Amino acid sequence: IMSSPLTFQPVLQRIAEEIAAAPDRGRPADYIPALAACDPHSFGMAVAELDGTVYGVGDWRQPFSTQSITKVFTLALDLAREGDELWEHVGREPSGNPFNSLVQLEYENGIPRNPFINAGALVVTDRLHTRTGDAARTLLDFLRAESGNDQLAINKDVAASEATRGDRNAALGHFMASYGNIENQVPVLLDQYFHQCSIEASCADLALATGFLARHGIRSDGTRLLTQSQSKQVNAIMLTCGTYDAAGDFAYRVGLPGKSGVGGGIIAVVPGRCTLCVWSPGLDERGNSVAGVTALDRFTTLTGVSVF
Ligand code: GLN
Repeated sequence: IMSSPLTFQPVLQRIAEEIAAAPDRGRPADYIPALAACDPHSFGMAVAELDGTVYGVGDWRQPFSTQSITKVFTLALDLAREGDELWEHVGREPSGNPFNSLVQLEYENGIPRNPFINAGALVVTDRLHTRTGDAARTLLDFLRAESGNDQLAINKDVAASEATRGDRNAALGHFMASYGNIENQVPVLLDQYFHQCSIEASCADLALATGFLARHGIRSDGTRLLTQSQSKQVNAIMLTCGTYDAAGDFAYRVGLPGKSGVGGGIIAVVPGRCTLCVWSPGLDERGNSVAGVTALDRFTTLTGVSVF
């Protein structure tokens, strides 16, 4: 056990070797062609220290579809603007249901359980859009600034595919609108949400962009995005809700606040210490990267670095 490694490079190397030898990769998401075409054997992992030093292994510089990972950043960007008012429109409890589930919305009056299932993320993006005039642009600008990578972009083909396969998200949006819980026109909101999901970034970019959650709310340029308390709150919601109906198992295995996306990426935070991003497109039944969860499990197990 390396309880305080001077560099994370050797442990990343070891994890990559273990993953390469592991046969089970799961299957890439197949609801849109761009994700279905991903090679399940791709694997990358990056660790960013608080000062921006990044360690990486495998495909850690390869951009991938960020998808639901972006829900962490829209939450932070909206919380920074409107504060606790947000919590009158979205809850903070794990859902125990799949990420695109509709069932709890009816008996909870159109208030989604948490900001990381699709319904809750739609509410957050809707409110961020009202407050900024362009939620997807605000998100992209933030990710570029925090990663230091001006090349980060929205994949327009992916956004168009998301729209053609967007009936479930449209249903969620319209259903919540019927309860008065959506501020913008639903098609406008969906367009923003599909563009948000279609931002591409690498493990290195996302590990860096997540840094503010390890720095208790402080951005890479030293300015504050969230209060220390809000940063704690976002981390807590990641721990309890970040991997949907697998959040209990993720907390048990990895022991870190984390957020997955169906592109196969997962970000994770060690508050006060470092941030991680892992990517491998093969998913389990709940939409979390199989190799990604394994790699994070191995990282916290081998290093002893976790929140517990
Ligand atoms: N674009 C996907 C959707 O809205 C994102 C879901 C995810 O990454 N879990 O269905």
